[in-house]
Amino acid sequence: MALLDRIPGDDNIYIGGIFSLRRREALKEANITHVVSVLRMPLEEALFQPYKHHVVEVDDIEDENLLEHFEATNKFIQDGLDAGGGVLVHCAMGKSRSATCAAAFLMAKYHISPYEALGQIRRGRPMCEPNQGFMAQLEIYDKMNTPENVAENPIYQRWLYKKEVELSLASGRAPEDIRFEDEQTPKEGEDPAQFDLRCRKCRRALATSHFVVAHEPKSGAATSCAHYFLDPLSWMRSELEQGKLDGRLECPKCKTNVGKYAWQGMQCSCGEWIVPGISLARGRVDEAKIRNIPAGAVGGIRLPPGASKDGHS
Ligand SMILES: [Zn+2]
Ligand SMILES: [Zn+2]
Repeated sequence: MALLDRIPGDDNIYIGGIFSLRRREALKEANITHVVSVLRMPLEEALFQPYKHHVVEVDDIEDENLLEHFEATNKFIQDGLDAGGGVLVHCAMGKSRSATCAAAFLMAKYHISPYEALGQIRRGRPMCEPNQGFMAQLEIYDKMNTPENVAENPIYQRWLYKKEVELSLASGRAPEDIRFEDEQTPKEGEDPAQFDLRCRKCRRALATSHFVVAHEPKSGAATSCAHYFLDPLSWMRSELEQGKLDGRLECPKCKTNVGKYAWQGMQCSCGEWIVPGISLARGRVDEAKIRNIPAGAVGGIRLPPGASKDGHS
Protein backbone atom coordinates (compact mmCIF):
# COMPACT_ATOMS: atom_id res chain seq x y z
CA MET A 1 0.00 0.00 0.00
CA ALA A 2 1.29 3.41 -0.92
CA LEU A 3 1.76 5.89 1.89
CA LEU A 4 -0.05 8.54 -0.02
CA ASP A 5 -2.52 8.13 -2.84
CA ARG A 6 -3.81 10.57 -5.38
CA ILE A 7 -7.57 10.91 -5.74
CA PRO A 8 -8.35 10.36 -9.42
CA GLY A 9 -9.85 13.43 -11.04
CA ASP A 10 -8.95 16.95 -12.06
CA ASP A 11 -7.52 18.09 -8.75
CA ASN A 12 -4.16 17.22 -7.29
CA ILE A 13 -5.41 15.97 -3.96
CA TYR A 14 -3.65 13.21 -2.06
CA ILE A 15 -4.68 11.21 0.97
CA GLY A 16 -2.31 9.59 3.38
CA GLY A 17 -1.52 8.67 6.95
CA ILE A 18 0.85 10.40 9.33
CA PHE A 19 3.87 8.50 8.01
CA SER A 20 3.39 9.87 4.52
CA LEU A 21 4.95 13.09 5.85
CA ARG A 22 8.27 11.34 6.25
CA ARG A 23 8.32 10.41 2.60
CA ARG A 24 9.99 13.56 1.36
CA GLU A 25 10.69 12.18 -2.07
CA ALA A 26 7.10 11.08 -2.69
CA LEU A 27 5.78 14.43 -1.47
CA LYS A 28 8.16 16.28 -3.74
CA GLU A 29 7.21 14.13 -6.68
CA ALA A 30 3.55 14.90 -6.02
CA ASN A 31 4.43 18.60 -5.83
CA ILE A 32 2.72 18.92 -2.44
CA THR A 33 2.56 22.54 -1.30
CA HIS A 34 -0.39 22.42 1.14
CA VAL A 35 -1.04 19.95 3.96
CA VAL A 36 -4.25 19.45 5.92
CA SER A 37 -3.75 17.54 9.19
CA VAL A 38 -6.99 16.09 10.54
CA LEU A 39 -5.95 14.67 13.87
CA ARG A 40 -5.36 15.53 17.48
CA MET A 41 -1.77 14.85 18.45
CA PRO A 42 1.38 16.87 18.93
CA LEU A 43 2.88 17.37 15.48
CA GLU A 44 6.57 17.63 14.81
CA GLU A 45 6.85 21.13 13.40
CA ALA A 46 9.87 20.41 11.26
CA LEU A 47 7.85 17.97 9.18
CA PHE A 48 5.56 20.77 8.03
CA GLN A 49 8.21 23.43 7.51
CA PRO A 50 8.07 23.65 3.72
CA TYR A 51 4.27 23.54 3.46
CA LYS A 52 1.29 25.72 4.04
CA HIS A 53 -0.39 23.89 6.89
CA HIS A 54 -3.95 23.68 8.20
CA VAL A 55 -4.80 21.65 11.30
CA VAL A 56 -8.21 20.30 12.30
CA GLU A 57 -7.98 18.87 15.79
CA VAL A 58 -10.42 15.98 15.99
CA ASP A 59 -10.24 12.36 17.06
CA ASP A 60 -11.50 9.51 14.94
CA ILE A 61 -14.63 9.05 17.00
CA GLU A 62 -18.16 9.21 15.71
CA ASP A 63 -19.40 12.19 17.65
CA GLU A 64 -16.58 14.55 16.75
CA ASN A 65 -17.95 17.47 14.78
CA LEU A 66 -16.25 17.64 11.39
CA LEU A 67 -19.11 19.52 9.73
CA GLU A 68 -18.06 22.77 11.36
CA HIS A 69 -14.61 22.51 9.76
CA PHE A 70 -15.61 21.87 6.15
CA GLU A 71 -15.84 25.54 5.26
CA ALA A 72 -12.20 26.11 6.28
CA THR A 73 -10.80 22.86 4.90
CA ASN A 74 -12.58 23.33 1.56
CA LYS A 75 -11.18 26.82 1.22
CA PHE A 76 -7.68 25.74 2.20
CA ILE A 77 -7.69 22.85 -0.28
CA GLN A 78 -8.96 25.09 -3.08
CA ASP A 79 -6.32 27.73 -2.26
CA GLY A 80 -3.66 25.05 -2.58
CA LEU A 81 -5.00 23.90 -5.93
CA ASP A 82 -5.28 27.48 -7.17
CA ALA A 83 -1.64 28.03 -6.29
CA GLY A 84 -0.81 25.23 -8.69
CA GLY A 85 0.45 22.68 -6.20
CA GLY A 86 -0.76 19.43 -4.76
CA VAL A 87 -2.67 19.15 -1.51
CA LEU A 88 -2.13 16.35 0.99
CA VAL A 89 -5.02 15.62 3.35
CA HIS A 90 -3.83 13.29 6.07
CA CYS A 91 -4.90 11.86 9.40
CA ALA A 92 -3.31 9.03 11.37
CA MET A 93 -4.14 6.17 9.01
CA GLY A 94 -5.46 7.98 5.94
CA LYS A 95 -8.72 6.16 6.32
CA SER A 96 -11.55 7.98 8.10
CA ARG A 97 -10.94 11.63 9.02
CA SER A 98 -8.90 12.60 5.97
CA ALA A 99 -11.31 10.81 3.63
CA THR A 100 -14.23 12.67 5.21
CA CYS A 101 -12.65 16.08 4.63
CA ALA A 102 -11.66 15.17 1.08
CA ALA A 103 -15.17 13.90 0.36
CA ALA A 104 -16.68 17.14 1.67
CA PHE A 105 -14.44 19.09 -0.68
CA LEU A 106 -15.45 17.04 -3.71
CA MET A 107 -19.12 17.22 -2.78
CA ALA A 108 -19.08 21.01 -2.49
CA LYS A 109 -17.02 21.57 -5.62
CA TYR A 110 -18.69 19.09 -7.96
CA HIS A 111 -22.17 18.85 -6.42
CA ILE A 112 -21.94 15.11 -6.02
CA SER A 113 -23.32 12.84 -3.32
CA PRO A 114 -21.18 11.52 -0.43
CA TYR A 115 -21.24 8.10 -2.07
CA GLU A 116 -20.01 9.38 -5.41
CA ALA A 117 -17.27 11.36 -3.65
CA LEU A 118 -16.17 8.34 -1.62
CA GLY A 119 -16.31 6.10 -4.67
CA GLN A 120 -13.94 8.47 -6.41
CA ILE A 121 -11.62 8.60 -3.39
CA ARG A 122 -11.57 4.83 -3.04
CA ARG A 123 -10.51 4.41 -6.63
CA GLY A 124 -7.31 6.09 -5.49
CA ARG A 125 -7.16 4.68 -1.98
CA PRO A 126 -9.42 1.66 -1.42
CA MET A 127 -8.96 1.60 2.37
CA CYS A 128 -10.75 4.96 2.83
CA GLU A 129 -13.77 4.57 5.05
CA PRO A 130 -15.21 7.34 7.23
CA ASN A 131 -16.57 6.13 10.56
CA GLN A 132 -20.36 5.97 10.85
CA GLY A 133 -20.68 9.33 12.56
CA PHE A 134 -18.64 11.06 9.85
CA MET A 135 -20.64 9.30 7.16
CA ALA A 136 -23.82 10.66 8.73
CA GLN A 137 -22.27 14.13 8.75
CA LEU A 138 -21.49 13.89 5.05
CA GLU A 139 -25.12 12.96 4.45
CA ILE A 140 -26.26 15.99 6.40
CA TYR A 141 -23.81 18.16 4.49
CA ASP A 142 -25.39 16.86 1.30
CA LYS A 143 -28.89 17.49 2.61
CA MET A 144 -27.91 21.10 3.35
CA ASN A 145 -26.56 21.46 -0.21
CA THR A 146 -22.97 21.97 1.00
CA PRO A 147 -23.42 25.58 2.11
CA GLU A 148 -20.42 27.83 2.67
CA ASN A 149 -21.78 28.92 5.98
CA VAL A 150 -22.58 25.70 7.80
CA ALA A 151 -23.01 27.29 11.22
CA GLU A 152 -26.05 29.31 10.17
CA ASN A 153 -27.82 26.48 8.40
CA PRO A 154 -31.02 25.39 10.19
CA ILE A 155 -30.39 21.71 9.37
CA TYR A 156 -26.96 21.96 10.98
CA GLN A 157 -28.33 23.77 14.01
CA ARG A 158 -30.92 21.08 14.48
CA TRP A 159 -28.28 18.36 14.20
CA LEU A 160 -26.09 20.16 16.74
CA TYR A 161 -29.03 20.54 19.09
CA LYS A 162 -29.83 16.83 18.82
CA LYS A 163 -26.25 16.03 19.75
CA GLU A 164 -26.48 18.25 22.83
CA VAL A 165 -29.71 16.59 23.90
CA GLU A 166 -28.12 13.16 23.53
CA LEU A 167 -25.14 14.30 25.58
CA SER A 168 -27.38 15.53 28.42
CA LEU A 169 -29.44 12.34 28.36
CA ALA A 170 -26.35 10.16 28.41
CA SER A 171 -25.52 11.69 31.77
CA GLY A 172 -29.11 11.39 32.99
CA ARG A 173 -29.99 15.09 32.74
CA ALA A 174 -32.78 16.85 30.89
CA PRO A 175 -31.38 19.23 28.25
CA GLU A 176 -30.74 22.78 29.47
CA ASP A 177 -31.19 24.78 26.31
CA ILE A 178 -34.32 23.62 24.63
CA ARG A 179 -34.86 24.50 21.01
CA PHE A 180 -38.50 25.46 20.52
CA GLU A 181 -39.10 24.75 16.87
CA ASP A 182 -41.92 27.27 16.44
CA GLU A 183 -39.47 30.03 17.38
CA GLN A 184 -37.06 29.15 14.58
CA THR A 185 -37.19 30.80 11.18
CA PRO A 186 -39.23 28.61 8.83
CA LYS A 187 -37.36 26.67 6.21
CA GLU A 188 -37.32 28.31 2.81
CA GLY A 189 -39.96 27.08 0.40
CA GLU A 190 -41.70 25.11 3.10
CA ASP A 191 -45.12 23.76 2.17
CA PRO A 192 -48.01 25.30 4.08
CA ALA A 193 -49.14 23.33 7.11
CA GLN A 194 -51.86 20.81 6.29
CA PHE A 195 -53.63 20.59 9.59
CA ASP A 196 -53.45 21.72 13.12
CA LEU A 197 -54.02 19.91 16.34
CA ARG A 198 -56.48 21.55 18.70
CA CYS A 199 -57.35 20.93 22.30
CA ARG A 200 -60.58 18.91 22.19
CA LYS A 201 -61.98 20.78 25.14
CA CYS A 202 -61.22 24.45 24.42
CA ARG A 203 -60.14 24.39 20.73
CA ARG A 204 -56.81 26.08 21.44
CA ALA A 205 -54.39 25.31 18.57
CA LEU A 206 -51.52 23.27 19.99
CA ALA A 207 -49.44 22.46 16.91
CA THR A 208 -49.51 22.57 13.13
CA SER A 209 -48.52 19.60 11.01
CA HIS A 210 -45.04 21.17 10.61
CA PHE A 211 -44.19 20.22 14.16
CA VAL A 212 -45.49 16.69 14.12
CA VAL A 213 -42.63 14.20 14.23
CA ALA A 214 -43.62 11.47 11.81
CA HIS A 215 -42.91 7.87 12.69
CA GLU A 216 -43.63 4.68 10.88
CA PRO A 217 -45.96 2.45 12.87
CA LYS A 218 -44.16 -0.83 13.43
CA SER A 219 -45.06 -3.24 10.67
CA GLY A 220 -47.67 -5.71 11.79
CA ALA A 221 -48.47 -3.57 14.82
CA ALA A 222 -51.63 -4.78 16.50
CA THR A 223 -52.59 -1.37 17.84
CA SER A 224 -52.70 1.89 15.95
CA CYS A 225 -50.88 4.99 17.19
CA ALA A 226 -52.43 6.61 20.24
CA HIS A 227 -50.16 9.64 20.14
CA TYR A 228 -49.00 12.51 18.00
CA PHE A 229 -45.33 13.15 18.63
CA LEU A 230 -44.20 16.75 18.50
CA ASP A 231 -41.13 18.96 18.48
CA PRO A 232 -40.74 21.12 21.59
CA LEU A 233 -43.08 24.12 21.17
CA SER A 234 -43.04 27.40 23.02
CA TRP A 235 -46.32 26.78 24.90
CA MET A 236 -44.54 23.86 26.63
CA ARG A 237 -41.77 26.13 27.87
CA SER A 238 -42.81 26.44 31.51
CA GLU A 239 -43.05 22.67 31.82
CA LEU A 240 -40.01 21.65 29.78
CA GLU A 241 -37.71 24.20 31.36
CA GLN A 242 -38.16 22.74 34.81
CA GLY A 243 -35.37 20.32 34.00
CA LYS A 244 -37.39 17.18 34.68
CA LEU A 245 -36.76 14.06 32.61
CA ASP A 246 -40.46 13.46 32.09
CA GLY A 247 -43.84 14.94 32.96
CA ARG A 248 -47.29 15.92 31.77
CA LEU A 249 -48.38 18.55 29.27
CA GLU A 250 -51.39 20.73 29.96
CA CYS A 251 -53.32 22.78 27.43
CA PRO A 252 -52.05 26.34 28.04
CA LYS A 253 -55.62 27.70 27.90
CA CYS A 254 -57.94 25.32 29.72
CA LYS A 255 -55.27 23.38 31.67
CA THR A 256 -56.62 20.00 30.58
CA ASN A 257 -54.03 17.27 30.50
CA VAL A 258 -53.33 16.80 26.79
CA GLY A 259 -50.16 14.75 26.72
CA LYS A 260 -46.84 13.87 28.25
CA TYR A 261 -43.13 13.95 27.58
CA ALA A 262 -40.10 11.83 28.31
CA TRP A 263 -36.72 13.08 27.13
CA GLN A 264 -35.32 9.60 27.14
CA GLY A 265 -38.00 8.47 24.76
CA MET A 266 -41.47 7.04 24.75
CA GLN A 267 -43.01 4.02 23.14
CA CYS A 268 -46.01 4.65 20.95
CA SER A 269 -48.87 2.16 21.21
CA CYS A 270 -47.82 0.90 17.77
CA GLY A 271 -44.55 -0.30 19.30
CA GLU A 272 -42.20 2.36 17.89
CA TRP A 273 -39.85 4.26 20.20
CA ILE A 274 -39.54 7.99 19.67
CA VAL A 275 -36.65 9.89 21.26
CA PRO A 276 -37.21 12.37 22.74
CA GLY A 277 -40.88 11.61 23.26
CA ILE A 278 -43.14 14.65 23.43
CA SER A 279 -46.67 13.59 22.72
CA LEU A 280 -50.29 14.60 22.57
CA ALA A 281 -52.89 11.92 23.23
CA ARG A 282 -55.11 11.37 20.20
CA GLY A 283 -58.12 11.24 22.46
CA ARG A 284 -57.44 14.75 23.79
CA VAL A 285 -56.95 16.63 20.54
CA ASP A 286 -58.70 17.07 17.21
CA GLU A 287 -56.99 17.23 13.88
CA ALA A 288 -58.38 20.21 11.95
CA LYS A 289 -57.63 20.70 8.26
CA ILE A 290 -56.21 24.10 7.50
CA ARG A 291 -58.24 25.91 4.86
CA ASN A 292 -57.25 28.82 2.60
CA ILE A 293 -54.41 26.84 1.12
CA PRO A 294 -53.18 28.71 -1.98
CA ALA A 295 -54.34 27.11 -5.23
CA GLY A 296 -51.87 24.59 -6.58
CA ALA A 297 -50.09 24.11 -3.27
CA VAL A 298 -49.08 20.57 -2.46
CA GLY A 299 -50.80 20.86 0.88
CA GLY A 300 -54.21 21.08 -0.77
CA ILE A 301 -54.63 17.35 -1.25
CA ARG A 302 -57.50 16.05 0.80
CA LEU A 303 -56.67 12.99 2.83
CA PRO A 304 -59.06 10.48 4.36
CA PRO A 305 -59.96 11.16 7.99
CA GLY A 306 -57.15 10.32 10.36
CA ALA A 307 -54.54 10.06 7.62
CA SER A 308 -51.96 12.73 7.01
CA LYS A 309 -48.91 13.17 4.86
CA ASP A 310 -46.61 14.52 7.59
CA GLY A 311 -47.97 12.59 10.47
CA HIS A 312 -49.24 9.11 10.65
CA SER A 313 -52.52 7.46 11.40
ZN1 LIG B 1 -47.16 4.90 16.54
ZN1 LIG C 1 -57.64 23.43 26.16
